[in-house]
Amino acid sequence: MSTVQFLNVHKSFGQVEVLKGINLTVEEQQVVCLIGPSGSGKSTLLRCVNHLEMTTSGAITVGGRMIGYDVYGDRLREASQLEINRRRSKIGMVFQSFNLFGHMTAKENVMFGPIKLLKMSKKDAQAHAEELLKKVGLSDRMDNYPSQLSGGQQQRVAIARALSMKPEVMLFDEPTSALDPELVGEVLDVMNQLARDGMTMIVVTHEMGFAREMGDVVVFMDNGVIVEQGDPHEVLGNPQHERTKSFLAKVL
Ligand code: ADP
Ligand code: MG
Repeated sequence: MSTVQFLNVHKSFGQVEVLKGINLTVEEQQVVCLIGPSGSGKSTLLRCVNHLEMTTSGAITVGGRMIGYDVYGDRLREASQLEINRRRSKIGMVFQSFNLFGHMTAKENVMFGPIKLLKMSKKDAQAHAEELLKKVGLSDRMDNYPSQLSGGQQQRVAIARALSMKPEVMLFDEPTSALDPELVGEVLDVMNQLARDGMTMIVVTHEMGFAREMGDVVVFMDNGVIVEQGDPHEVLGNPQHERTKSFLAKVL
C-alpha cells in the first residue's frame, strides 16, 4: 500500500511554474530523501502535501485520500479550514525553523494539538506528551520554554509535537539546516530512530550521510522536475545525469 502518491503534480506561482509534473510514490514505512539545489521546488512539494499550498493541477493522495478535495471531489476552500486542519494534523511537518509556541513549555507545545484537535483529555495528553518527549531524549526538559532550549532540543520538541497527532507520514524540510554543526547529530539520531520504528518519511535534506544510511529512495530534483530517483547508493554513488553529478560534486 502506498502512503503518499504524487500524480503529475504541477504548481505555478503566477506565471512561474515551480513544479512541472512530479510523479512519485512513497510506500508505507519508506524513507524518501529529497535532494536538489535551492529553488528546485522541494519545499513547495512538501507544502502541497500539507495543504500549505494548493497544486495547480495533478493530484496528491495520502493514505488513498486526495489532498485538497472533499469526499465529493470538490476543492477544499478556506471555508473548509476546519477540515483542512483536521487532515493536516495527520501529516506531521517539521520545518527548518522550529516554529514552537514561545509562550508554552516543551510539554505544553506537545499537548496542544491532541487537546485542541483530537479532543484528548488534558491528563491523557500530558501522559502522551511525556512519553514522546522521553522518546526524543528530553525527559529532563519538559517544563522548559523554547528560549531555554538549544536549537537541537527545540527541533526535537518540534518532532515530538508533530508525532503527538499520530501522523500517517512525517515531512521534514531541512530539519537540521538551522542548527549549529554540533547539534545536528542529536536531531538525526531521533529521525533515525523514527525511521527504524517504521514511520513513513519524506525528508528534504543536505545531510547526504543520512540519505545514504536511512533513505530507501533518494530523489534528485532540479528546476521543478525529478531528474533521477532510486537506491541511495546508486543515485549518490553512481549518478546517471549530468545535473545530478554537478550537484553532488558541490555537496559531497
Ligand atoms: P527549494 O525548497 O527547493 O529551495 P522552493 O520550493 O522553496 O524550492 O521554491 C521553488 C521556487 O518557487 C523558487 O523559485 C521560489 O522562489 C518559488 N516560490 C516558492 N514559494 C513561492 C511563493 N509563495 N510565491 C512565489 N514564488 C514562490
Ligand atoms: Mg526549501
